[in-house]
Amino acid sequence: MPEKGMRRSERLHMMGYEPPDRSDWVTGLHPMDDLLRGERLPHIWCQGCGLGTALTTFIAALQWLERERGWDMDKVAVVSGIGCTGRIAGYVRLDSFHTTHGRAIPFATGLKLANPEMKVIVISGDGDMAGIGGNHLIHAARRNLDITVICVNNFNYGMTGGQAGPTTPHEARAVTAQYGNFEYPFNLPYLAAASGASFVARWTVLHARRLEWTLREAMEHPGFSFVEVIAPCSTAYARWNPEGRGMDPEHLRRRGLEVMKYYKAAGRITHDTHPKDAGVKVDEKGLITEIVEGKFLQEVRPDLQEALDHLAARADKWWQVEKKALDDRPHLPKSSSHVPRTEVQLGGFGGQGIISAGKIIGQAAAIYDGLEVCFTQSYGPEARGGAAGSQVVLGSDPIHHPHLIQPSTMIIMSQGAYAKYLSFLAPNGVLLIDDGLVELAEDHRQDITTYGLPATRIAEKLGNNRAANTVMLGFWTAIAGAVSQDAMRQSVAESVPPKTIDVNMKAFDEGYRKGIEVLDRS
Ligand code: SF4
Repeated sequence: MPEKGMRRSERLHMMGYEPPDRSDWVTGLHPMDDLLRGERLPHIWCQGCGLGTALTTFIAALQWLERERGWDMDKVAVVSGIGCTGRIAGYVRLDSFHTTHGRAIPFATGLKLANPEMKVIVISGDGDMAGIGGNHLIHAARRNLDITVICVNNFNYGMTGGQAGPTTPHEARAVTAQYGNFEYPFNLPYLAAASGASFVARWTVLHARRLEWTLREAMEHPGFSFVEVIAPCSTAYARWNPEGRGMDPEHLRRRGLEVMKYYKAAGRITHDTHPKDAGVKVDEKGLITEIVEGKFLQEVRPDLQEALDHLAARADKWWQVEKKALDDRPHLPKSSSHVPRTEVQLGGFGGQGIISAGKIIGQAAAIYDGLEVCFTQSYGPEARGGAAGSQVVLGSDPIHHPHLIQPSTMIIMSQGAYAKYLSFLAPNGVLLIDDGLVELAEDHRQDITTYGLPATRIAEKLGNNRAANTVMLGFWTAIAGAVSQDAMRQSVAESVPPKTIDVNMKAFDEGYRKGIEVLDRS
């Protein structure tokens, strides 16, 4: 059995993994074969590309963490998006995800939140991470999600042919910027730090050892760590910027080396520089003249998981209080008869309590009558006096479609709502109106039953015109018969402000009495 402390290659060997022998140059266990998928080689990267060095430093940092810090590589996951850098996820012998374009960080977020024990590392390119997925980058940093993001910046969209991207320096050339890039690029460390990252660094691949050390630190850092790795794109970017010309392989390699010379000349290691000042300077031709490198920021503050745990503990205390209140609620006998799917449309204007009335029906049906309920609401202009509507679907059977298909009853309290909703009422449906506010049209529908009640006037007489919706609820309860009277009374009492319980109970009872009278007459 594999034992703790055993090198991964030894464990893999014990588990039956044999290294590939597919070419002259892959003949046995490479020092990095425990974390490198040799069977996927040769890689796709161009000669002179910096991505090989980026991958090597990354694996070296992981090996160090396994050896020196006892990291369990079975609990490390690598996530990348699309692009040349995105291939890294496929070359590491770890749980890895090669995700959709720009979406590496959302995948990583899900992975980390579902399994907080997992060390999650995102490694992707500048176009993928700061362009297409830029929104995810800033929000993950803002949340201080405990992941490490390694962004390999080659200043363009390399894989797709060298288009200008969000990090292409001003005035630099690209296949889509033949006269020079007129846009200004992101300073990625500044972007990450300003968004809330708690560890921020930048190196070029020339500084491979320092990069490896920084990657170790970044991966150990609790919270959102961001490392920008500037690397040459010998085929696309370097073709249009410094010396590179021609396309033969030797030139490609040399182009990469030329870029490394640039990095050497332009690199300025300045730890603790404010990320705002850690820019990549270019001359008027777009050629890089200064790259500020180093570890710019490291601070420890609660990460997203800690914030969630803290909230969960607080919510649990609140829930205990709420649960007690729920347990203390009266337990009414559940409805024993089968209630078919019943759809109710309520309509009026803002301030009449149309939304509240829908909630009261839903609460009564779900909590006290034990029915299935869906409640939705809609507003017109979101101001008092604007159109307001709410919809309730209830019944004994599970509700598979939450929206109204054809309501069988309607409670309408404004002329506008009458005009808006009436055509949706099912044939033979029941329309209840506040007939002090709603005037029926001359060609009012004859295939439905209409009952009117001056609910607002009744509520005024009871001393509070705001209880008009409760009058209509009592009226509806008596006529529709879908929810029990006791359940509705209990729901009204719980839903209105304590000072208005009395007037609302009177309003409900009056509406209910009028409803019974109407039924007796018809
Ligand atoms: S296109 Fe550029 S970034 Fe992509 S593999 Fe080639 S050199 Fe590297």
